[in-house]
Amino acid sequence: MSRENITDIAVIGGGASGLAAAIEAKTIMPNAKVVILEKLDRVGKKILATGNGRCNLSNIELGEMHYHGSVRNAMRIIGATPSAKEFFGSIGVLCTADSKGRIYPRSNNAATVLNALRMRAEELGVIERCGFEANFIESTDNGFRISSVSGDKYPCRRIIVAAGGYAAPQFGTDGSVIRLLRSKGCHTTKICPAVAPLRVRPELLKGLKGVRAKGRVIAYSGGQFLKEEVGEIQFTENSLSGICVFNMAHLFSKYEGKLKLRLDLAADMEHEQLMGYLRVIHYQRGKHTTDELLTGIFQRNLASYITKRALGKPLTDKISSLNEGDLRKIVQLIKNLDFDVTGSAPWKDAQVTSGGVSGECVDDRLQLRKEKGIFLCGEILDIDGDCGGYNLQWAWSSGVFAGRNCAESLRGARL
Ligand SMILES: Cc1cc2nc3c(=O)[nH]c(=O)nc-3n(C[C@H](O)[C@H](O)[C@H](O)COP(=O)(O)OP(=O)(O)OC[C@H]3O[C@@H](n4cnc5c(N)ncnc54)[C@H](O)[C@@H]3O)c2cc1C
Repeated sequence: MSRENITDIAVIGGGASGLAAAIEAKTIMPNAKVVILEKLDRVGKKILATGNGRCNLSNIELGEMHYHGSVRNAMRIIGATPSAKEFFGSIGVLCTADSKGRIYPRSNNAATVLNALRMRAEELGVIERCGFEANFIESTDNGFRISSVSGDKYPCRRIIVAAGGYAAPQFGTDGSVIRLLRSKGCHTTKICPAVAPLRVRPELLKGLKGVRAKGRVIAYSGGQFLKEEVGEIQFTENSLSGICVFNMAHLFSKYEGKLKLRLDLAADMEHEQLMGYLRVIHYQRGKHTTDELLTGIFQRNLASYITKRALGKPLTDKISSLNEGDLRKIVQLIKNLDFDVTGSAPWKDAQVTSGGVSGECVDDRLQLRKEKGIFLCGEILDIDGDCGGYNLQWAWSSGVFAGRNCAESLRGARL
């Protein structure tokens, strides 16, 4: 095969990790021909939707506890690559952190992040080939041949697979490349949505659709405490949502059918403090109906819901008819509102994939153990991070890392 016909490095997927990988590979090996093969009509569509259009691209508090999955050396890889501030600073994107440590571009605009990545890739001479949906990889004497759904063939020496997972298929990620790698003998772990709402029985959410409340979410399984987070909880007609619930979604994979969420809707108050408050209200509002008991603590729908679920009595009764035991039941429910998790959200509502190609399938350079010359990065691997910039940080770092190792594996080759 002539030099003109073979690409040195083909990157499958032009998302966050694929763009970072292509930039790093071309920086290290300027003479290498680096091509991004992207299924959609343009690269980086998902980046535009991140952080509600603001792109929460990293977090100042990076640590192992924020990552889940079988890729065990994530922190080593993150530590071996430039920080997000350094990486983006080097391509002209200045970053700033909010009070919770979440790092955003100063522009507060995801499009500027994508534009800067694309400009840098273009300056270096990375080629974008959009509308190429890879569906087959075969080995050849020179390396590999990637076929597309429409029958195009793409010969290359090395491959970086950066095609993401199953989450948010509206941005091009439907797990097809995970299936492709499975057919090549890669072992995949259990796959389910992460950073996503969790389903509960809809009859337990009657009247709560659209309600938001501050509180603590505690995840349990079989009486065992798993994790807790404080933040805004959102109720939909069939799910619990909000960042603190999103961060519990990865537990569904391991504890399917046995996962419980307990909401403490007055996390900043002790039981007895709440009782004291309710005793006063009970005295003051005695002539009013019980649906007014919690007016002032919760918004109307949530206030009625709690009173009804705690007492099982009509809300038309007078507050004066409640006794000490009734007030205690209400306090108990405010602090322990339990839901059995019945399922996870549909892929379109998930931000991330829990599970993927097992960490055991790649070596410490993120190269497939069974097929040398193919490197993996980003969400396609079995690793997912908490909400707060951790997933994009993994995408940039693993992309840079795979891009660097892939380019270095070509050293000495006649390009
Ligand atoms: C709405 C939303 C908001 C988010 N917000 C944040 C946030 O603020 N902070 C954060 O850290 N994380 C966020 N995430 C998660 C984060 O965007 C992803 O974890 C990250 O983009 C994964 O990067 P990736 O390169 O592995 O995959 P992706 O960015 O998903 O890119 C994969 C690319 O591969 C292409 N592709 C797929 N199959 C093929 C194929 N067969 N052939 C060729 N190309 C293919 C896809 O079209 C896509 O362009 C968000 C996700 C969503 C959906």
